[in-house]
Amino acid sequence: MSIFSHPEYDQHEQISCYHDPETGLQAIIAVHNTNLGPALGGCRMWHYASDADALTDVLRLSRGMTYKSALANLELGGGKSVIIGDPQRHKTPELLAAMGRMLERTGNRYIAAEDSGTSVADLSVMSQHTTNVAGITDRIGIDGAPCNGDPSPATAYGVFTGLKTAVQHRLGCNHLDGIKVAVQGIGNVGYRLCELLHNAGAQLYITDIHPERVAQAQAEFGAVAVDGQEIYSVDADVFAPCALGAVLNDATIPLLSAKVVAGAANNQLAGQRHDLMLQERGILYAPDYALNAGGIIDLYHERIGHEHMKVRAHIETISDTLNEIFRRSEQQKRPTGEIADQLAEERFR
Ligand code: NAD
Repeated sequence: MSIFSHPEYDQHEQISCYHDPETGLQAIIAVHNTNLGPALGGCRMWHYASDADALTDVLRLSRGMTYKSALANLELGGGKSVIIGDPQRHKTPELLAAMGRMLERTGNRYIAAEDSGTSVADLSVMSQHTTNVAGITDRIGIDGAPCNGDPSPATAYGVFTGLKTAVQHRLGCNHLDGIKVAVQGIGNVGYRLCELLHNAGAQLYITDIHPERVAQAQAEFGAVAVDGQEIYSVDADVFAPCALGAVLNDATIPLLSAKVVAGAANNQLAGQRHDLMLQERGILYAPDYALNAGGIIDLYHERIGHEHMKVRAHIETISDTLNEIFRRSEQQKRPTGEIADQLAEERFR
Protein backbone atom coordinates (compact mmCIF):
# COMPACT_ATOMS: atom_id res chain seq x y z
CA MET A 1 0.00 0.00 0.00
CA SER A 2 1.63 3.24 -1.10
CA ILE A 3 1.45 6.44 0.91
CA PHE A 4 3.37 9.25 -0.79
CA SER A 5 2.27 8.16 -4.27
CA HIS A 6 -1.30 7.40 -3.15
CA PRO A 7 -3.79 9.24 -5.45
CA GLU A 8 -5.42 10.87 -2.38
CA TYR A 9 -2.17 11.72 -0.55
CA ASP A 10 -2.16 15.42 -1.51
CA GLN A 11 0.64 16.50 0.87
CA HIS A 12 -0.98 15.30 4.08
CA GLU A 13 0.99 16.57 7.08
CA GLN A 14 0.55 13.44 9.17
CA ILE A 15 -0.93 9.97 8.82
CA SER A 16 -0.92 7.81 11.96
CA CYS A 17 -1.92 4.16 12.20
CA TYR A 18 -2.83 2.77 15.59
CA HIS A 19 -3.33 -0.77 16.80
CA ASP A 20 -4.36 -1.73 20.30
CA PRO A 21 -4.06 -5.54 20.62
CA GLU A 22 -6.06 -5.69 23.87
CA THR A 23 -9.24 -4.16 22.44
CA GLY A 24 -8.66 -4.96 18.75
CA LEU A 25 -8.72 -1.26 17.84
CA GLN A 26 -7.33 -0.52 14.39
CA ALA A 27 -7.54 3.14 13.47
CA ILE A 28 -6.02 5.69 11.12
CA ILE A 29 -5.84 9.40 11.88
CA ALA A 30 -5.10 11.69 8.92
CA VAL A 31 -4.16 15.34 9.33
CA HIS A 32 -4.24 17.05 5.97
CA ASN A 33 -3.37 20.65 6.77
CA THR A 34 -3.10 22.75 9.93
CA ASN A 35 -2.08 26.12 8.44
CA LEU A 36 -5.24 27.77 9.76
CA GLY A 37 -5.56 25.84 13.05
CA PRO A 38 -5.98 22.36 14.51
CA ALA A 39 -7.53 19.80 12.18
CA LEU A 40 -11.17 19.13 13.07
CA GLY A 41 -13.14 16.32 11.46
CA GLY A 42 -15.31 13.31 12.15
CA CYS A 43 -14.26 9.95 13.55
CA ARG A 44 -15.90 7.36 11.31
CA MET A 45 -16.35 3.68 12.16
CA TRP A 46 -16.88 1.47 9.16
CA HIS A 47 -16.52 -2.15 8.18
CA TYR A 48 -14.00 -1.48 5.37
CA ALA A 49 -13.32 -4.30 2.92
CA SER A 50 -9.57 -3.65 3.26
CA ASP A 51 -7.00 -1.43 5.01
CA ALA A 52 -6.40 0.20 1.62
CA ASP A 53 -10.07 1.24 1.42
CA ALA A 54 -9.86 2.73 4.93
CA LEU A 55 -6.74 4.70 4.00
CA THR A 56 -8.31 6.03 0.79
CA ASP A 57 -11.43 7.11 2.68
CA VAL A 58 -9.60 8.87 5.52
CA LEU A 59 -7.25 10.72 3.13
CA ARG A 60 -10.10 11.89 0.88
CA LEU A 61 -12.27 12.99 3.78
CA SER A 62 -9.54 14.83 5.70
CA ARG A 63 -8.56 16.82 2.62
CA GLY A 64 -12.22 17.75 2.18
CA MET A 65 -12.34 19.11 5.73
CA THR A 66 -9.42 21.49 5.02
CA TYR A 67 -11.34 22.96 2.09
CA LYS A 68 -14.64 23.14 3.97
CA SER A 69 -13.21 24.91 7.04
CA ALA A 70 -11.15 27.33 4.95
CA LEU A 71 -14.16 28.31 2.86
CA ALA A 72 -16.22 28.81 6.05
CA ASN A 73 -13.55 31.22 7.38
CA LEU A 74 -12.72 29.05 10.39
CA GLU A 75 -9.39 28.93 12.19
CA LEU A 76 -9.35 25.18 11.67
CA GLY A 77 -7.44 22.75 9.53
CA GLY A 78 -8.64 19.51 7.99
CA GLY A 79 -8.41 16.03 9.42
CA LYS A 80 -10.39 12.85 9.83
CA SER A 81 -10.08 9.49 11.56
CA VAL A 82 -11.41 6.04 10.82
CA ILE A 83 -11.87 3.05 13.08
CA ILE A 84 -11.82 -0.16 11.05
CA GLY A 85 -14.68 -2.38 12.19
CA ASP A 86 -18.40 -2.98 12.16
CA PRO A 87 -20.04 -0.47 14.52
CA GLN A 88 -22.84 -2.97 15.26
CA ARG A 89 -20.52 -5.82 16.25
CA HIS A 90 -17.10 -4.44 17.17
CA LYS A 91 -17.86 -1.24 19.08
CA THR A 92 -17.17 -1.67 22.81
CA PRO A 93 -16.53 0.87 25.60
CA GLU A 94 -12.98 -0.51 25.83
CA LEU A 95 -12.36 0.04 22.10
CA LEU A 96 -13.71 3.61 22.33
CA ALA A 97 -11.50 4.25 25.37
CA ALA A 98 -8.49 3.00 23.39
CA MET A 99 -9.44 5.42 20.57
CA GLY A 100 -9.57 8.21 23.15
CA ARG A 101 -6.02 7.37 24.22
CA MET A 102 -4.88 7.38 20.57
CA LEU A 103 -6.42 10.83 20.09
CA GLU A 104 -4.55 12.05 23.15
CA ARG A 105 -1.26 10.71 21.75
CA THR A 106 -1.83 12.59 18.47
CA GLY A 107 -1.85 15.78 20.53
CA ASN A 108 -4.02 18.79 19.82
CA ARG A 109 -3.28 18.69 16.08
CA TYR A 110 -6.47 16.69 15.48
CA ILE A 111 -9.90 17.00 17.12
CA ALA A 112 -12.51 14.28 16.53
CA ALA A 113 -16.28 14.67 16.20
CA GLU A 114 -19.11 12.20 15.54
CA ASP A 115 -19.50 10.75 12.05
CA SER A 116 -21.01 7.68 10.34
CA GLY A 117 -20.84 4.78 12.80
CA THR A 118 -20.08 6.91 15.86
CA SER A 119 -22.39 8.93 18.12
CA VAL A 120 -22.18 11.78 20.61
CA ALA A 121 -22.27 9.09 23.35
CA ASP A 122 -19.27 7.33 21.78
CA LEU A 123 -17.30 10.56 21.62
CA SER A 124 -18.18 11.18 25.28
CA VAL A 125 -16.54 7.84 26.17
CA MET A 126 -13.42 8.88 24.23
CA SER A 127 -13.44 12.25 26.02
CA GLN A 128 -12.68 10.50 29.32
CA HIS A 129 -9.18 9.91 27.91
CA THR A 130 -8.56 13.03 25.85
CA THR A 131 -9.63 16.64 25.44
CA ASN A 132 -9.32 16.31 21.65
CA VAL A 133 -13.00 15.72 20.90
CA ALA A 134 -15.76 18.16 19.88
CA GLY A 135 -19.54 18.23 19.69
CA ILE A 136 -20.33 16.57 23.01
CA THR A 137 -21.51 19.44 25.20
CA ASP A 138 -25.17 20.30 25.72
CA ARG A 139 -25.86 23.78 24.43
CA ILE A 140 -28.48 26.09 22.95
CA GLY A 141 -28.95 25.31 19.26
CA ILE A 142 -29.21 27.91 16.52
CA ASP A 143 -33.00 27.82 16.81
CA GLY A 144 -32.74 28.77 20.52
CA ALA A 145 -33.74 25.27 21.70
CA PRO A 146 -31.45 23.00 23.78
CA CYS A 147 -29.41 20.55 21.68
CA ASN A 148 -26.96 17.77 22.40
CA GLY A 149 -24.30 18.21 19.75
CA ASP A 150 -26.25 17.01 16.70
CA PRO A 151 -24.92 19.21 13.84
CA SER A 152 -27.93 18.66 11.54
CA PRO A 153 -29.99 21.76 12.53
CA ALA A 154 -26.96 24.00 11.90
CA THR A 155 -26.23 22.22 8.61
CA ALA A 156 -29.85 22.58 7.47
CA TYR A 157 -29.85 26.30 8.31
CA GLY A 158 -26.65 26.77 6.27
CA VAL A 159 -28.13 24.94 3.29
CA PHE A 160 -31.31 27.04 3.56
CA THR A 161 -29.23 30.25 3.67
CA GLY A 162 -27.15 29.18 0.65
CA LEU A 163 -30.18 28.00 -1.30
CA LYS A 164 -31.83 31.42 -0.88
CA THR A 165 -28.63 33.12 -2.11
CA ALA A 166 -28.45 30.87 -5.17
CA VAL A 167 -32.13 31.49 -5.99
CA GLN A 168 -31.60 35.21 -5.74
CA HIS A 169 -28.55 35.02 -8.00
CA ARG A 170 -29.94 32.70 -10.68
CA LEU A 171 -33.67 33.49 -10.63
CA GLY A 172 -33.50 37.11 -9.42
CA CYS A 173 -35.97 36.38 -6.64
CA ASN A 174 -35.27 37.61 -3.09
CA HIS A 175 -37.85 35.37 -1.41
CA LEU A 176 -38.83 31.69 -1.61
CA ASP A 177 -42.58 32.17 -1.65
CA GLY A 178 -43.89 29.91 -4.43
CA ILE A 179 -40.40 28.66 -5.37
CA LYS A 180 -40.53 24.94 -6.20
CA VAL A 181 -37.85 22.83 -4.51
CA ALA A 182 -37.20 19.12 -5.16
CA VAL A 183 -35.60 17.56 -2.07
CA GLN A 184 -33.88 14.17 -2.45
CA GLY A 185 -33.56 12.52 0.97
CA ILE A 186 -35.50 13.74 3.99
CA GLY A 187 -33.31 12.50 6.81
CA ASN A 188 -31.76 14.59 9.59
CA VAL A 189 -30.80 17.52 7.35
CA GLY A 190 -33.35 17.14 4.55
CA TYR A 191 -36.34 17.10 6.89
CA ARG A 192 -35.24 20.26 8.71
CA LEU A 193 -34.51 21.91 5.38
CA CYS A 194 -38.06 21.07 4.25
CA GLU A 195 -39.40 22.70 7.41
CA LEU A 196 -37.43 25.92 6.80
CA LEU A 197 -38.45 25.97 3.12
CA HIS A 198 -42.11 25.34 3.94
CA ASN A 199 -42.12 28.16 6.50
CA ALA A 200 -40.65 30.44 3.80
CA GLY A 201 -43.52 29.57 1.44
CA ALA A 202 -41.71 27.17 -0.91
CA GLN A 203 -43.58 24.36 -2.65
CA LEU A 204 -41.92 21.00 -1.97
CA TYR A 205 -41.40 17.84 -4.02
CA ILE A 206 -39.78 15.06 -2.03
CA THR A 207 -38.42 11.56 -2.31
CA ASP A 208 -36.92 9.12 0.19
CA ILE A 209 -36.49 5.36 0.42
CA HIS A 210 -38.30 5.43 3.80
CA PRO A 211 -42.06 5.77 3.10
CA GLU A 212 -42.84 6.84 6.69
CA ARG A 213 -40.60 9.92 6.36
CA VAL A 214 -42.27 10.80 3.08
CA ALA A 215 -45.72 10.45 4.67
CA GLN A 216 -44.69 12.68 7.59
CA ALA A 217 -43.37 15.42 5.29
CA GLN A 218 -46.50 15.20 3.15
CA ALA A 219 -48.68 15.68 6.21
CA GLU A 220 -46.59 18.39 7.84
CA PHE A 221 -45.45 20.47 4.86
CA GLY A 222 -47.98 19.64 2.15
CA ALA A 223 -45.08 18.23 0.13
CA VAL A 224 -45.73 16.30 -3.08
CA ALA A 225 -44.11 12.84 -3.07
CA VAL A 226 -42.42 11.66 -6.28
CA ASP A 227 -40.67 8.41 -7.22
CA GLY A 228 -36.89 8.06 -6.91
CA GLN A 229 -35.83 8.95 -10.48
CA GLU A 230 -38.61 11.49 -11.00
CA ILE A 231 -36.98 13.86 -8.50
CA TYR A 232 -34.46 14.94 -11.18
CA SER A 233 -36.98 15.85 -13.86
CA VAL A 234 -39.87 17.15 -11.75
CA ASP A 235 -40.82 20.70 -12.71
CA ALA A 236 -38.88 22.48 -9.94
CA ASP A 237 -36.78 25.64 -9.68
CA VAL A 238 -34.25 24.09 -7.30
CA PHE A 239 -32.88 20.56 -6.90
CA ALA A 240 -31.67 19.94 -3.32
CA PRO A 241 -29.71 16.66 -3.00
CA CYS A 242 -29.72 15.68 0.69
CA ALA A 243 -29.07 11.93 0.54
CA LEU A 244 -26.19 10.55 -1.49
CA GLY A 245 -22.98 11.59 -3.21
CA ALA A 246 -22.31 11.44 -6.99
CA VAL A 247 -25.94 12.25 -7.89
CA LEU A 248 -24.84 14.87 -10.43
CA ASN A 249 -23.57 12.69 -13.26
CA ASP A 250 -23.87 11.93 -17.00
CA ALA A 251 -27.25 10.27 -16.53
CA THR A 252 -28.93 12.79 -14.22
CA ILE A 253 -27.70 16.22 -15.38
CA PRO A 254 -29.57 16.02 -18.74
CA LEU A 255 -32.77 15.21 -16.80
CA LEU A 256 -32.67 18.26 -14.50
CA SER A 257 -35.33 20.85 -15.07
CA ALA A 258 -34.17 22.97 -12.09
CA LYS A 259 -32.02 26.03 -12.72
CA VAL A 260 -30.34 25.81 -9.30
CA VAL A 261 -28.68 22.88 -7.47
CA ALA A 262 -28.30 23.53 -3.74
CA GLY A 263 -28.29 20.71 -1.20
CA ALA A 264 -26.52 19.16 1.79
CA ALA A 265 -25.11 15.90 0.39
CA ASN A 266 -21.33 15.57 0.32
CA ASN A 267 -19.49 15.06 -3.00
CA GLN A 268 -22.53 15.63 -5.21
CA LEU A 269 -20.49 15.84 -8.43
CA ALA A 270 -19.64 12.36 -9.74
CA GLY A 271 -16.55 13.80 -11.44
CA GLN A 272 -14.86 17.16 -11.97
CA ARG A 273 -16.23 17.51 -15.48
CA HIS A 274 -19.82 17.51 -14.15
CA ASP A 275 -19.15 20.94 -12.68
CA LEU A 276 -18.65 22.23 -16.25
CA MET A 277 -21.56 20.17 -17.56
CA LEU A 278 -23.93 21.96 -15.15
CA GLN A 279 -22.56 25.34 -16.16
CA GLU A 280 -23.02 24.53 -19.85
CA ARG A 281 -26.66 23.64 -19.17
CA GLY A 282 -27.16 27.02 -17.45
CA ILE A 283 -27.68 25.39 -14.05
CA LEU A 284 -26.20 27.25 -11.08
CA TYR A 285 -24.44 24.76 -8.81
CA ALA A 286 -23.91 25.91 -5.21
CA PRO A 287 -20.79 23.90 -4.25
CA ASP A 288 -21.77 21.32 -1.63
CA TYR A 289 -18.97 21.93 0.84
CA ALA A 290 -19.60 25.68 0.84
CA LEU A 291 -23.28 25.06 1.56
CA ASN A 292 -23.12 22.28 4.15
CA ALA A 293 -20.57 23.91 6.49
CA GLY A 294 -23.15 24.80 9.18
CA GLY A 295 -22.23 21.76 11.29
CA ILE A 296 -18.50 22.49 11.36
CA ILE A 297 -19.20 26.17 12.09
CA ASP A 298 -21.28 25.04 15.08
CA LEU A 299 -18.45 22.79 16.32
CA TYR A 300 -15.93 25.60 15.95
CA HIS A 301 -18.02 27.91 18.11
CA GLU A 302 -18.31 25.21 20.76
CA ARG A 303 -14.52 25.49 21.12
CA ILE A 304 -14.32 29.28 21.29
CA GLY A 305 -17.31 29.84 23.60
CA HIS A 306 -20.70 29.02 22.22
CA GLU A 307 -23.24 31.84 21.75
CA HIS A 308 -26.05 30.63 19.53
CA MET A 309 -26.76 34.00 17.90
CA LYS A 310 -23.08 34.29 16.90
CA VAL A 311 -23.21 30.79 15.42
CA ARG A 312 -26.29 31.78 13.44
CA ALA A 313 -24.61 34.94 12.16
CA HIS A 314 -21.50 32.99 11.17
CA ILE A 315 -23.61 30.42 9.28
CA GLU A 316 -25.27 33.29 7.42
CA THR A 317 -21.84 34.28 6.02
CA ILE A 318 -22.20 31.21 3.75
CA SER A 319 -24.23 33.63 1.66
CA ASP A 320 -21.25 36.02 1.25
CA THR A 321 -18.95 33.16 0.28
CA LEU A 322 -21.41 31.93 -2.33
CA ASN A 323 -21.88 35.42 -3.77
CA GLU A 324 -18.10 35.68 -4.15
CA ILE A 325 -18.00 32.26 -5.88
CA PHE A 326 -20.85 33.18 -8.23
CA ARG A 327 -19.28 36.56 -9.04
CA ARG A 328 -15.89 35.08 -9.90
CA SER A 329 -17.50 32.24 -11.84
CA GLU A 330 -19.31 34.71 -14.10
CA GLN A 331 -16.32 37.00 -14.45
CA GLN A 332 -13.89 34.18 -15.27
CA LYS A 333 -16.43 31.98 -17.11
CA ARG A 334 -15.37 29.00 -15.00
CA PRO A 335 -17.62 26.54 -13.15
CA THR A 336 -18.52 27.25 -9.53
CA GLY A 337 -16.96 24.07 -8.05
CA GLU A 338 -13.59 24.96 -9.55
CA ILE A 339 -13.85 28.52 -8.21
CA ALA A 340 -14.76 27.24 -4.71
CA ASP A 341 -11.61 25.06 -4.64
CA GLN A 342 -9.50 28.00 -5.71
CA LEU A 343 -11.01 30.29 -3.07
CA ALA A 344 -10.40 27.70 -0.33
CA GLU A 345 -6.80 27.20 -1.45
CA GLU A 346 -6.17 30.96 -1.39
CA ARG A 347 -7.24 30.91 2.26
CA PHE A 348 -5.33 27.89 3.58
CA ARG A 349 -2.18 27.65 1.43
P1 NAD B 1 -29.48 10.94 6.97
O1 NAD B 1 -28.94 9.56 6.86
O2 NAD B 1 -30.15 11.35 8.22
O3 NAD B 1 -30.50 11.22 5.76
C1 NAD B 1 -30.32 10.75 4.46
C2 NAD B 1 -31.70 10.43 3.93
O4 NAD B 1 -31.57 10.05 2.57
C3 NAD B 1 -32.38 9.28 4.65
O5 NAD B 1 -33.70 9.64 5.01
C4 NAD B 1 -32.36 8.16 3.61
O6 NAD B 1 -33.47 7.28 3.74
C5 NAD B 1 -32.42 8.94 2.32
N1 NAD B 1 -31.94 8.20 1.16
C6 NAD B 1 -30.95 7.30 1.08
N2 NAD B 1 -30.84 6.83 -0.18
C7 NAD B 1 -31.76 7.49 -0.91
C8 NAD B 1 -32.13 7.45 -2.27
N3 NAD B 1 -31.54 6.65 -3.14
N4 NAD B 1 -33.12 8.26 -2.69
C9 NAD B 1 -33.75 9.08 -1.82
N5 NAD B 1 -33.45 9.16 -0.51
C10 NAD B 1 -32.48 8.35 -0.06
O7 NAD B 1 -28.24 11.89 6.64
P2 NAD B 1 -28.14 13.46 6.96
O8 NAD B 1 -27.41 13.66 8.23
O9 NAD B 1 -29.46 14.09 6.75
O10 NAD B 1 -27.15 13.93 5.80
C11 NAD B 1 -27.60 14.03 4.46
C12 NAD B 1 -26.42 14.34 3.55
O11 NAD B 1 -25.79 15.55 3.95
C13 NAD B 1 -25.32 13.26 3.58
O12 NAD B 1 -24.74 13.18 2.30
C14 NAD B 1 -24.32 13.84 4.55
O13 NAD B 1 -23.01 13.36 4.31
C15 NAD B 1 -24.41 15.32 4.23
N6 NAD B 1 -24.01 16.18 5.37
C16 NAD B 1 -24.67 16.08 6.56
C17 NAD B 1 -24.28 16.90 7.62
C18 NAD B 1 -24.99 16.83 8.94
O14 NAD B 1 -24.83 17.76 9.75
N7 NAD B 1 -25.79 15.81 9.20
C19 NAD B 1 -23.23 17.81 7.45
C20 NAD B 1 -22.60 17.91 6.20
C21 NAD B 1 -23.01 17.08 5.17
